[in-house]
Amino acid sequence: MIRKNRETGETVGFLMTLIPNLSYIESTHFDPFKKNSYTERDKKLNGYVLYHDMDGNFVNGWMYDNGHIYAINPTEEGNTEFQLRSGCNWYTIEYSTWDCHPTAEWESGVLTGIGVVCQKNHIEMTWSSCSMEDSSGAPPAGDIILPGGVNNLPTPSSVAPQAKRIFRNSNMAIDRWNSLENMINKIISDCLGMSMYNALASALNGKTLIIEFVNGNPSGFTYTSSSISLDMSGESNRLFHEMWHAYQSYQETASSYPSSTLNHEFESWYAQYLYISRLPEYKIGSKWYDWYYHSKIGLAVQKFKTFIDAKGNLLQGESAFKDYLDKLSLPGSDFRNGGYQSTLLYQYDGNRTAAYDFKNLTNLSKNCQ
Ligand SMILES: [Zn+2]
Repeated sequence: MIRKNRETGETVGFLMTLIPNLSYIESTHFDPFKKNSYTERDKKLNGYVLYHDMDGNFVNGWMYDNGHIYAINPTEEGNTEFQLRSGCNWYTIEYSTWDCHPTAEWESGVLTGIGVVCQKNHIEMTWSSCSMEDSSGAPPAGDIILPGGVNNLPTPSSVAPQAKRIFRNSNMAIDRWNSLENMINKIISDCLGMSMYNALASALNGKTLIIEFVNGNPSGFTYTSSSISLDMSGESNRLFHEMWHAYQSYQETASSYPSSTLNHEFESWYAQYLYISRLPEYKIGSKWYDWYYHSKIGLAVQKFKTFIDAKGNLLQGESAFKDYLDKLSLPGSDFRNGGYQSTLLYQYDGNRTAAYDFKNLTNLSKNCQ
């Protein structure tokens, strides 16, 4: 079976096995598959319906027994009893019946002979039972599971719903989706994070951003492709920073965004700092705390808090903060030296006020304490 999600275009491949039992085979006159398919199930079906993923791992199944339907769920180790793998024992049963009906021969209106014609039907059923070895990686639940044991269609994928609301990647493994979902759940437990997530989702208006995990590269947001690359650290604060950029990009035009990327970095870094400094793991001695007190960018960003509070209020007025930001935009500043050297890639729009540079923080923190 290949199932395609019409909304996302995602396809899922899996195997469906229908094993009717003998009484059902008989009741259907040896045509047990006629009324049974993925989308249809005969109410009188007796037997098993099993689902396996494309590697042969058992996902889930159903036993139909005289109108009762029982779920067969994988055990924590994966249900080895239903594994479709090599190294399994195969069982076969054979079943024969005679199907007979009377015959009569007529010739010119006269009965010339009667008899019985019989046909032998031979049924062979085979199934497998596997050893316990190599049962790691229980397949993902969610797909293919039929709700409530009724003859219904499978439920849609329940993997990473929050992440899939704003991100897409048809090639990403489920554990990556789950890791992304965990990060998003952490982000939305923070008021500002929740506000940003919702604002980004509504700006996307049903569309999604491309997401990918990159090995050995830093995280980044690419404006032209609306995509986020995430490093492998699994740290939600880095995703937070890139999601903030994505949100920022929806407040800009195709020309204003690239001409103010350094301005965006100031706000993204500060929002990320506000977020991470509220997390319980951010404490004296932690690597995050150390980073903000020992790196060039960290020190510069941390100093923002003397100019602006968590709700975007300017603490020393506009010009004091603006002077500081202007200085950070110059070649040789801590910010430039900390990774934003390129004045072409990281352009500073000096016409913007400090309040304007942090307008998204002001807007998104409105309903937060
Ligand atoms: Zn950035």
